[in-house]
This record gives sequence, C-alpha cells and structure tokens, in this order.
Amino acid sequence: MAFSFSVLAEDGAARAGKMVTARGEIETPCFMPVGSAGSVKAMTPEELRTVGAQVVLANTYHLMLRPGAETIEKLGGLHRFMGWNGPILTDSGGFQVYSLARLCRLEEEGVEFRSHLDGSLHRLSPERAMELQGRLGSDMAMVLDDCPPLPSPPSRFLEAVTRSVAWARRSRAAARPEQAVFGIVQGGLDRSLRKRCLEELMQIGFDGYALGGLSVGESPGERDELTAALAPAMPADRPRYLMGVGTPEDLVNSAAAGVDLFDCVIPTRNARNGQLFTSRGKVAIKHARYAEDGGPLDPACDCYVCRTYSRAYLRHLYTAGEILASRLNTWHNLHYYQGLMRGMREAVRAGRMQSFRREFLSRPKETDG
Ligand SMILES: [Zn+2]
Repeated sequence: MAFSFSVLAEDGAARAGKMVTARGEIETPCFMPVGSAGSVKAMTPEELRTVGAQVVLANTYHLMLRPGAETIEKLGGLHRFMGWNGPILTDSGGFQVYSLARLCRLEEEGVEFRSHLDGSLHRLSPERAMELQGRLGSDMAMVLDDCPPLPSPPSRFLEAVTRSVAWARRSRAAARPEQAVFGIVQGGLDRSLRKRCLEELMQIGFDGYALGGLSVGESPGERDELTAALAPAMPADRPRYLMGVGTPEDLVNSAAAGVDLFDCVIPTRNARNGQLFTSRGKVAIKHARYAEDGGPLDPACDCYVCRTYSRAYLRHLYTAGEILASRLNTWHNLHYYQGLMRGMREAVRAGRMQSFRREFLSRPKETDG
C-alpha cells in the first residue's frame, strides 16, 4: 500500500507533516473540504485545486443511497466519477446513520436504518462499510463506529467504546490492502474512557487515528480540552484526524494540540448562507452596510473573488438569490481555510505556532465593516 506519514517539524505539541498516498502528497495540518455526495457543493475539482485543496472527503452514507457504491465502481470508481484525481478520504457512514437516518436497530452485527431520502431499509456492518469504501476506491477509509450523541448516559458511552473497538477490529480485517484505514476513538467527554478506547485501537494497529463523536452537542471549551488531552496520547508517527471540526478557532487550537487532519462543512455551508470568513472577522454579506461598498470582501485575501469583485456585488448576488453567490462565497471561504492551514504549517516549521495562535485568537470575531 502506498501510504505513509512523516512528521517534518514540531513546535510544542503542534506538528507539520506529510502524508503520501498513491494519488499524491498531503501536507499537514490539512483541511479537507467536504464533498458529501461526491461533490464539494458549488465547486469543480479544478477550482478546488485552485483554492489549495489537497484531499477531499466523501460520505459513504450518501453515496451508498444515491447513486450506489456498486454503480460508482462500475463507472471506474469515485475519483473518475467525480473528476478529482487527488486523494479522497471516505467516512464509514456511521455518523450519518446516527445523525441523519432513522436508526432502527443497533446490535453487534451492525446497524439497520431507514434512508432519510425515501425511508428504504438498509444495513451497515463493519464488513459492509469497508466493502462500500473499497468499491468507491477511496485512498483512506474509516472504520464503522458507534457514535452516540452528547449528552448520553455514561453507560451508553461505555457500550459505544466496547462496540466501536470490536467493529474496528472487524473493519481492519475486512479492509482492502490498497486502502489506508483509520481507527476512530469514541468515549464522549470521559478522558479515561477515550484513552482506553485509543489504547485498544493501537493494539489492533491502524494507519491513522481519529477523534470521533465530537461536534455533537458539546461546547467548544469541552472539545478543546478533550482534544488537548487526547491528541498528544495518539501515536506520534501516525496522522491524527479530528472529525467534523470546525471553526477557524477550533482548527488553530486543535492543530496547536497536535492534530494533523480536519474536515467540516462550516466553510462551504456558511458560504451558501452568506457567512464569510475574513482576516478581519466574519462578514454577513447580506448586511445593508455593504450595499454600496466597492471594496474587496477581504483586502488581505488574494483569492479570485477578492481580486475581482466588490462587497456590493457579492451582496447583490446573495440577496438576488443568484447561483453565482454560492459559487463565489464558497470559493473565498475555502481559500480562507486553506490559507489558514498553510499559515499554520509555516508557523510550525518556523517555531512560532504559539504566537500565531495568540495573534489569531486575539483578532476580532465579527467585522464592523
Ligand atoms: Zn478571498
């Protein structure tokens, strides 16, 4: 299998590293845009490259329901299907089964659920989740895990850890040799339970380790504390992936704690809702104060959108419901996220991650125009 990870520089707990996959290298810390249904909404693969994306995430749950993993396999695999020749990471489908579908049965064998699209009945087991990801042909696959919402009773988290470890073992055994496989640490906000889960996963042995079950109801402070405690305990020679997180502040805090890999819908979803991230804080582009503002969205940004269009035009597109609003807003937000990651990689290599983080967190959160 053509997969490796090496740490190139360290600064405190933070690392700058390099993942090598059969479809290219990934510099870390890295943010993966979310392409749930085989498409990062509003962006072509060429545009994703332009904003600096190195790897995209696709959702097994969405693709198994529509158009079906077997169909995608027949058409040459997901890379060919979506026209992206870089690395792809697929999740196992577990998270959406708990969050989006109607869960019918949860037992040792696997889960049974009804589709959020048409109510049809489906099953997912550790073996089936790996089979689906094998058919999609992703470069990195995630194990099926048991992911309870927060808050849940302590006994539920204990059960989830026991089941997730057993499923991780079965997933590992069912994985295709050409795919890298990541184990997922569960355990809610209980650090000792999380550490126990991590240790059991390390005994099985994975190509990377993920913190799952976050962004499901906890506060940012709780998330930061857990990440800061757990990330340094994860194997130093494997990529560490914080799933489904988060805001720019989350990324900076977690990368400082030693996380290498992130994914989140925030930059793309917020873009479609007119919420833009800039060096001067967040901008709600619909605001009337931008109606006659001829300046760029972010004077410090060198993306195509900021070089070409005014705030007034972006506001107009958004308020007029133009499709181009989603495209341009997504373009800028993803460029911003990729720029932030690049900034952190440089800061770690230069040994100034602490000051990078301090300056970043002291910046205004909302722009006043
Ligand atoms: Zn921009």
